[in-house]
Amino acid sequence: YRAKELGNSYAFYNPEIGALPERRFSMERELRRALERNEFELFFQPQIDLATGNCVGAEALIRWRHPEKGLILPDQFIPVAESTGLIVPMGAWVIRSACPHLKSWREAGMAPLRLTVNVSVKQFERGGLIQTLESSMRESGVDSRLLEIEVTESVLMQHPMASDTLRELSRMGILISIDDFGTGYSSLSYLKKLPVYKLKIDRSFVTTLPVDPDMLAITTAIVTMGSALRLKTIAEGVESREQLDILRRLGCDEIQGYYYSRPLPNDTFMTWVREKSTPPRT
Ligand code: C2E
Ligand code: MG
Ligand code: MG
Ligand code: MG
Repeated sequence: YRAKELGNSYAFYNPEIGALPERRFSMERELRRALERNEFELFFQPQIDLATGNCVGAEALIRWRHPEKGLILPDQFIPVAESTGLIVPMGAWVIRSACPHLKSWREAGMAPLRLTVNVSVKQFERGGLIQTLESSMRESGVDSRLLEIEVTESVLMQHPMASDTLRELSRMGILISIDDFGTGYSSLSYLKKLPVYKLKIDRSFVTTLPVDPDMLAITTAIVTMGSALRLKTIAEGVESREQLDILRRLGCDEIQGYYYSRPLPNDTFMTWVREKSTPPRT
């Protein structure tokens, strides 16, 4: 297997066959060096409240600005970072970088936005997550209520200590969302035992709306269950007006997707939010 070049992106990893050992090893070395050289960057994708149409938050998504290969998307390196454990320092970098952004948005006069970061199961296993969050919030002086974490269902199911950590995070005022909801195997009774705040409906269900009746049934079930359990729901991967209208009719709280915006670099994101919150002149 040879890495394929696709435009300026670079296939380090083929999800079908995984990375070969030698490829994985050189990738691990490259990732370690990239962390030292600060080649990672956060992009931000807006989250819109369907009731008001306002941008109420953003998801931080990591990008690798490779000096030769250009911008590399997470699917190309997160799997290797996960399997080598490098996701732990990388995840800590994400948290430490996210907090000052929240602060700078406030200082720039933007309305308070929630910022959500993705947290891997490895960050729960190795510990250090709470300390990283605490020190990052303290150093940048951000309000913990504006910080949210996204974990997948597998975190809740696979890791016995996860529930303790989640309760501790909740005590700190950090909101917890379940990412890619509906694709894993969570015991539904867990959702009420754990301090979960929001269900993030996986893109795979949203993508085929409105044509696929099964996906519509699943989406409807998630939104209905969410509201019955007093959990917020957000749909990701919303690309069309039609999808947005369906989700609004179902009573979904928030949406995130290309329909509004792709993930954006910080300066573009700030401009986007400003323009959106300025009422159009008539
Ligand atoms: P995710 O957390 O489920 O993030 C949503 C992904 O869906 C993002 O891909 C986003 O760009 C994409 N997306 C959002 N709206 C649309 C849409 O309307 N259409 C389409 N086609 N795609 C949409 P991205 O940024 O490539 O990230 C992929 C995955 O990599 C993330 O999925 C997450 O699992 C992981 N990831 C990204 N950043 C981090 C990070 O900082 N830490 C960890 N542990 N994982 C991360
Ligand atoms: Mg996510
Ligand atoms: Mg997701
Ligand atoms: Mg995902």
